Amino acid sequence: MKAPAQANDLFAGRTVTIATMHGKERVLAPLLEKELHVHCKVVEGLNTDAFGSFSGEIQRKGTPIEALRAKTRKAIELVKGSLVVASEGSFGPHPSYFFIPGNEEMVMLTDTVHKLEIVGRHLTEKTNYQKREIKDLREFESFAKQIGAPEHGIILKTIHGPQKVWKDFTSFEDTSNMVEHLLKKERVLMAETDMRAMNNPTRMKAIEQATLDLVKNIKLCCPKCKAPGFSIQGVQRGLPCEHCGMPTKSVKAHVHSCQKCGFTETRSNQRTYENPQYCDYCNP
Ligand SMILES: [Zn+2]
Ligand SMILES: [Zn+2]
Repeated sequence: MKAPAQANDLFAGRTVTIATMHGKERVLAPLLEKELHVHCKVVEGLNTDAFGSFSGEIQRKGTPIEALRAKTRKAIELVKGSLVVASEGSFGPHPSYFFIPGNEEMVMLTDTVHKLEIVGRHLTEKTNYQKREIKDLREFESFAKQIGAPEHGIILKTIHGPQKVWKDFTSFEDTSNMVEHLLKKERVLMAETDMRAMNNPTRMKAIEQATLDLVKNIKLCCPKCKAPGFSIQGVQRGLPCEHCGMPTKSVKAHVHSCQKCGFTETRSNQRTYENPQYCDYCNP
């Protein structure tokens, strides 16, 4: 009997074009090569900052998925490849805990031969994204310490007049010297964490987690047509409370669906009951 097709069969031996800048291939390439048996290469001449930059010069248009598709299209145009991986990060209030900042990283694999688009995500509250007004060197040093410099980079911006941005410092000393120099002219400056992956090891780890999620989703194959990417496309809420049995807002089941044949399957959560702590009736 022939073994069922593996997701790897569709990708093994092919070249994956990595549509990123900022050194993200450092975490993407080893994982993809090991798990999918592909060869990775970084697209040359792709300015992903044109799709939105973290230093704020260019605002991202549309949703993260739209940004990923735009990057992918551009990479395909440049290299005429058929297998592309792009990545996109978002920062802001965590969607479930509004008072803490969150970082969501998404990594998308697009295969134009098999018409597949598979996404991996990682949502974390572990981000050092911060900005602060700096009036003297002492304030700058306290900010730097808080965000984890010198391992993490810093971006400087003017607050008054037309905005000017300074980034790509060669060292922490270089940044300090620039602060000192700028504060002679500016009364106050804005210091921000550099969120570009190569200058932010915390973010690089989140991208790695999103890549692992992508690999996991690729390996989930449709039970009907065997296409890879039989990933979670929706959830059913209403996990019953352990105490009163009423439905809670917690996830009861995940809905997996296939983008090739449209087959859908509801797979129940591992848990049968929710802790009464999360029940609106027991703990309003
Ligand atoms: Zn299918
Ligand atoms: Zn209850």
